Amino acid sequence: MISELREKPLASWRGQERYGNELLDCLTIIFKSAGCTWSKCRMCSYRHARYFAQQSPETILGHLRAQLAWVTDQHKSEEYSMVKIFTSGSFFDPREIPCGFLSDVATTFKGKLVIAETRPEFVDAEVISSFMEILDDGSYKTPLYCAMGLETSSDYIREKCINKGFTFADFTKAAKTAHSAGAGVKAYLLLKPLFLSEGEAVADMKTSILDTAVHADMISMNPCTVQRNTELEYYWKRGAYRPPYLWSVLSILADSPVHITCDPLGGGQKRGPHNCKKCDYEIVKGIRDYSLNADRDLISALLQTRCDCKQEWEYLLSAEKSYCMPLTR
Ligand code: SF4
Ligand SMILES: [Zn+2]
Repeated sequence: MISELREKPLASWRGQERYGNELLDCLTIIFKSAGCTWSKCRMCSYRHARYFAQQSPETILGHLRAQLAWVTDQHKSEEYSMVKIFTSGSFFDPREIPCGFLSDVATTFKGKLVIAETRPEFVDAEVISSFMEILDDGSYKTPLYCAMGLETSSDYIREKCINKGFTFADFTKAAKTAHSAGAGVKAYLLLKPLFLSEGEAVADMKTSILDTAVHADMISMNPCTVQRNTELEYYWKRGAYRPPYLWSVLSILADSPVHITCDPLGGGQKRGPHNCKKCDYEIVKGIRDYSLNADRDLISALLQTRCDCKQEWEYLLSAEKSYCMPLTR
């Protein structure tokens, strides 16, 4: 249903995304919703972006419809073919996004390639099939991808360093459900969660890519940024956390057996992945270009860049010690 009202979503912008060997014009939307029902991840501030008062599902639905109407006013349908949907949590969580809104979105973006983010527990075969039935007009073999923030394939790191609240087995089960319903799977992996040294973070990402590639059709690596009002920020302010080096990002991309996309948000800034300031701009730009063109030579060339901070990074990889917490209280 098209709303008479207009409401700006949290964000929406246009860009390009690589899909197979093609470049697609992409519309990204972050809808303000009833909020993530988990809301406990140590690094996440998105969960704060929600309608706070206890509003009824009908009221939330009205807000969401008004946001969708705003988006369709701003962006002409013929100007993009991919749509990436984020909320302040999970698009397929019925407590966060009232069911009626799913059919509105599928109708509005019929014939587009939709990538929608959700926690694995909300990947339900019936919900996915009904959404795809409306969305699919035969333009894409896989018109919907369920995107899940797996973060790492290590249950230990996901529990202790992120507090994500689901296991690798939950992810693989959801991936199976999505695939059997005809949808694709995208996994987001987090480089350097809280409490990991630089070397541990690189090793964890390399293992996670290998473990995840078997279950996901696309993998995107998110180098960790320090968002406001998070537990991660608490540690960062006390000098107990440093975002990953861009050298780490490059070394992972260079070694990966599959193409990994990466948009280093906050790249080159103190809260985002960074090196020394002198070399950041070129490397961040190169990583973004690589996400689109998959040119491995570009990554190799960037890894050869000369800068004093590279030695510092190499030293850290071997010398930094694991985070040490007391085993007793
Ligand atoms: S990272 Fe995702 S699951 Fe975790 S609190 Fe944030 S929105 Fe919720
Ligand atoms: Zn440098």
